[in-house]
Amino acid sequence: MPELPEVETSRRGILPHLKEQVIEKITIRQPKLRWLVDSAITQTEGSKIIDVKRRAKYLLLELKQHPTFNTNQANSTINWIVIHLGMSGSLRILLTPEPAQKHDHIDLTLKSGVTLRYTDPRRFGAWLIAESLSDLTQLKNLGPEPLSDDFSVDYLSNKAKNRKSPIKSWIMDNHVVVGVGNIYASESLFMAKIHPLRQVNSLTVDEMKRLVAAIKKVLTQSIKQGGTSLKDFLQSDGKPGYFAQQLQVYKRDGEQCFCCKATIEAQRVGQRNTFYCPNCQKLP
Ligand SMILES: [Zn+2]
Repeated sequence: MPELPEVETSRRGILPHLKEQVIEKITIRQPKLRWLVDSAITQTEGSKIIDVKRRAKYLLLELKQHPTFNTNQANSTINWIVIHLGMSGSLRILLTPEPAQKHDHIDLTLKSGVTLRYTDPRRFGAWLIAESLSDLTQLKNLGPEPLSDDFSVDYLSNKAKNRKSPIKSWIMDNHVVVGVGNIYASESLFMAKIHPLRQVNSLTVDEMKRLVAAIKKVLTQSIKQGGTSLKDFLQSDGKPGYFAQQLQVYKRDGEQCFCCKATIEAQRVGQRNTFYCPNCQKLP
């Protein structure tokens, strides 16, 4: 499943090809994604993409009406196309036309001749349209971005009061902080030396500091590594090569801890596979 670093890598990969370009045509071969793609999305044909932003794991194409080109839909009020990659979605840039394959559900073709192609075998992704981002329920009540200053030790400590859930499930909750998926939750807790089953309100200030720092570091490293594979957007699979990243505990159960040589263990926490070193991440 694409996690925040992969979505951010996708954003950086497509941005130079999309920014300041005018949408020529949107082709929908399969509208049945997680939510049905609104056919009104074709009203954005003729609009200019002025930026590609990101909130949580949503990519936000910011549009501006373009009177020169927008002859058929002069009154379009769609200012945003919002894309989520779901479980198996990916985006890639085609510099020249290529025949669509089975799972290539949406093409966004620009007047420049470049196409943004959306592929999604499991169809849990989404393409949404909005006049204002505040219209989208999907973006409401989200916690802060993990790499922003809003995600701080003060913020997290306040939020943790009276919370008794396991810390691993809690940091994966989008209301607490967005974008900490399963891989990065296990990796961050390992880096912070905190057992995944610790109760949220049992963490000391020092542990909170380590956890906030670890989440930021793990995600930043992963984005940096993704950035080295941007050329992949022009290759056939369109997937950033982030899996090359050195994982410390994720899916390493039964193997030796790189730190202490104890055996990494796996356990279900909140229905999600969780990996940790029982020695580096002791329960008190
Ligand atoms: Zn260890």
